[in-house]
Amino acid sequence: MSDAVVLLSGGLDSTVCLGLARQEGFTPWTLSFDYGQRHSAELASALAVAEALGVPPARRRVVPLHGLFSGSALTGDEPVPLDRSWDQMGQDIPSTYVPARNLVFLSLATAIAEPLGIGDLFIGVNALDYSGYPDCRPEFIAAFIQAARLGTRHGIQVHTPLAHRTKAEIAALGHRLGLPLELTMSCYLGQRPACGRCDACLLRRHGFEEAGLVDPLPYRV
Ligand SMILES: [Zn+2]
Repeated sequence: MSDAVVLLSGGLDSTVCLGLARQEGFTPWTLSFDYGQRHSAELASALAVAEALGVPPARRRVVPLHGLFSGSALTGDEPVPLDRSWDQMGQDIPSTYVPARNLVFLSLATAIAEPLGIGDLFIGVNALDYSGYPDCRPEFIAAFIQAARLGTRHGIQVHTPLAHRTKAEIAALGHRLGLPLELTMSCYLGQRPACGRCDACLLRRHGFEEAGLVDPLPYRV
């Protein structure tokens, strides 16, 4: 059984990604980042999810990146947009985009994986039901794999099992895999009950509804 590094934010997508990595037979290491995100409560969710899924503490990494990212509503510079329509989510890069976040995360994950002899990374990026972040696009991931192949000893395979799944399919997968979705945190405001109005809440709720499932998280509105 091979080891894999799974980027785990503590949200729905990364939790399902972790479940899929296990299902594919990988022994997961989880990697989370403490970057001063407004919704830092998601870090506690990430650790709770990892623990619930039996990832031992020695294989749970949290990397501190305080002060690195700015220029994003998620790091506190601007208000988080609320009540956006589906059309708006598909068109603009919103203020919750964190500049180069996935580029940094994948690079750090590669730096951690390579000396451990790990050649597989899992990241729960999604190119369908997402907020319009450029670093979630399949072209970006393909280009990163190419860069890692040229810039490291053995390169790295980046698995994106959720890339072409709808949020409803992701919710259904999480349910079918028996994952502890009640421990996850998706809300950009980091609220519990979740705000119900940020992009993350709107997409998540809609996904559960479409899948005919009850979201175990409580919502404020
Ligand atoms: Zn929210």
